[in-house]
Amino acid sequence: MNICSPQARFRINSSAKDYLISLNVFLSGSYCQGDFCHRLEQEVSLLVNTNFAIAMPQARVGLYFAISAIARPGQEVILSPNTIADVINMVICAGAVPVFCDIEPATGNLDPSLVENLITRNTVAILATHLYGLIAPMDQLGKIARKHNLLLIEDAAQAFGARKNCQYAGTMGDIGVYSFGMAKNVMAFFGGMLVTPHEHIEKAVRQKLEAFPLMDKGKLGKKIFSCLIKDIASYDCIFSLFLFRLFRFGYRNNIKAITSLIETELDLTGKSELPEIYKEKMTPLQAKLVLAKLQKVEPDFQHRLACARIYHESLKDIPELILPPMRDDGSHVYNYYPIGFKDRIALRMFLMTHDRDVALQHIKNTADLPTFKKYYRDCPEARLWAKQTIMMPNYVKYCLKEVQKNSATLRAFFGK
Ligand SMILES: *Cc1c(COP(=O)(O)O)cnc(C)c1O
Repeated sequence: MNICSPQARFRINSSAKDYLISLNVFLSGSYCQGDFCHRLEQEVSLLVNTNFAIAMPQARVGLYFAISAIARPGQEVILSPNTIADVINMVICAGAVPVFCDIEPATGNLDPSLVENLITRNTVAILATHLYGLIAPMDQLGKIARKHNLLLIEDAAQAFGARKNCQYAGTMGDIGVYSFGMAKNVMAFFGGMLVTPHEHIEKAVRQKLEAFPLMDKGKLGKKIFSCLIKDIASYDCIFSLFLFRLFRFGYRNNIKAITSLIETELDLTGKSELPEIYKEKMTPLQAKLVLAKLQKVEPDFQHRLACARIYHESLKDIPELILPPMRDDGSHVYNYYPIGFKDRIALRMFLMTHDRDVALQHIKNTADLPTFKKYYRDCPEARLWAKQTIMMPNYVKYCLKEVQKNSATLRAFFGK
């Protein structure tokens, strides 16, 4: 028996170096010092080959700036409901109207064949989300955007480094946004980047950002500390010996007090104005953390791709499962490996009670949320996707052996 198995459903893509760099910056009093943000902007614009890159405190704030820069009050933005609630909030906070467009069931991304029907005289932009690292159908969306004179924005929060035909996610439209948040592949606890080829957009965004102070030291410090606690709790042997046993006990005996401990609760509150706590700039510390791991973007992706290949090869003959498309060309960076099954609760129970730690997808179909009732639109595919998706782990610290065990357990569930 391997005492360090199973590994946790999720681990932060951090290393001791992140905490050491942070500690050093906090203790040496250099929190506000250094031109790391500027250097990071230069590195990122070189890496993805775009004209302008602007460091953001969080990706969502970048989306707020993107919409603010291009939309007049009341103009409409067509977007996928398959995203976090705060993305919709940012469109609303920027004064625009979110118009939900359903997704393709095979990819979870915007269905381009449904976009054109939603265009009105008031439409200003299409916001495409590259969900879980899979590039949305940008050729088709670009054609529609050009035909109707709309702007194209990319939520590439989960797709840093993804590319197709030598073009990077985030640089296929007019504005792109990346996230360096704690759950993302390149993580700086908080952080993001806005990229654009247009000088007037860059000017407008920088001018607004200029007025914001640096991210609060206490806020960032708390976040770093809470990530450290999560890192320790999900550390392989600690997790498998203690936490997982507790979770498994909870699932076997259906003890809600235990099982609800690990169900990620998302912030689903509505916002109509950019919250004060979002009005801040990326700190040199965050930029330093990202700069230190740009070299790791590609090897990290190669590991997730290797996991995806194993899942794909071992599960492709199970017709009841919806698998992500298998792409080797970098157009899917497999931020996660989401699988769909109509009774995901039963499947998750089977996995948990067979020593496999996995999570249900936490993002909702935002078109169905009461918070956004005013913008309601029936999106049956997004509703199904939100109800059916399980996240199979494939993060950087996850062993290929664990991926094989997950696959074998899934096969056993289907009697194979
Ligand atoms: C994480 C995420 C965001 C927000 O990123 P932050 O940096 O936390 O603001 C936006 N969109 C998608 C699809 C995400 O996964």
